[in-house]
Amino acid sequence: MPNARGGIDLGGTKIQAVVVDGDSAVLGQARHPTPTSGGPADVAAAMASALREAAQATGLEPAALKGVGVGSPGAVDAHAGTVSGARNLPGWAGTFPLAEALAGELGAPVHLGNDVQVATDAEAALGAGRGRRSLLGVFWGTGVGGGIVLDGRPWLGRGAAGEIGHMVIKRGGRRCPCGRRGCMEAYAGRAALEERARELHAEGRKTDLFKLMERHGRPRLTSGIWARALEHGDKLAIELIDEAVGALGAGIASAVNLLDCEAVVIGGGLGVRFGEPGVERIRAAMHPHLFVDECPPAVELVALGDLGGAIGAALLAR
Ligand SMILES: [Zn+2]
Repeated sequence: MPNARGGIDLGGTKIQAVVVDGDSAVLGQARHPTPTSGGPADVAAAMASALREAAQATGLEPAALKGVGVGSPGAVDAHAGTVSGARNLPGWAGTFPLAEALAGELGAPVHLGNDVQVATDAEAALGAGRGRRSLLGVFWGTGVGGGIVLDGRPWLGRGAAGEIGHMVIKRGGRRCPCGRRGCMEAYAGRAALEERARELHAEGRKTDLFKLMERHGRPRLTSGIWARALEHGDKLAIELIDEAVGALGAGIASAVNLLDCEAVVIGGGLGVRFGEPGVERIRAAMHPHLFVDECPPAVELVALGDLGGAIGAALLAR
């Protein structure tokens, strides 16, 4: 297997590793929880162990891989091989030489990229965006991340492009986890939704969201808990998700008005969980805000699902 590559999607709750062949078909995979304490070196060790396990499933040693790509949150300096300010990871406010640390553990060259951008690149190359010259990836999860492909190439700006979650949809609006006001993420991100649900519940609004969370032994309102609450007709959950979809519609349509991209792909924990019916709702919510509404972009669900980030990371090692 001379062209086998590794890919690691580093998330705030899980580390997903894959080993793929030269055509990006997944040969082996492993998923480990992200350490919640310690520091960057502990996270790097957990990443190495996930990748080793994925490689084991294919009968390969990590050192035999052509390379290993990593999709990371925070500010990624691909050239220097460092990740800074990954605030949803333990003790990672500063700068850490992740590429060097991982390469030392695995014995293979390591390439870093931004988590959301590599997931968008994977959809552009292999998934729902195949054959498109321009693409907007929207990852609706704990936050709302975005990735951009323009003229067949990733658009990174000066390194921080694609922050679609922080498109302002309401001046002076709700406080966003980023500290500013009125961002799309303040209405649509899973973390913001949970905070809003807690506030309203504390004010006396009835909801089964937190009962469902306890019954299923979850530490937070996961995408699965939201989906169940909607199935049960929970009024508060319905109201908040309606508001989230409205916010996504306004924010994504505004981005499309600026970029005029051919397609939008929707992924992330909530995006994948709500699936095609959720995508249809986002499509409808975008429509009133589209400047050229007779020619909307294709809006599609990610085709690579949960593994898209790790498969996209492996593309960095081509
Ligand atoms: Zn924000």
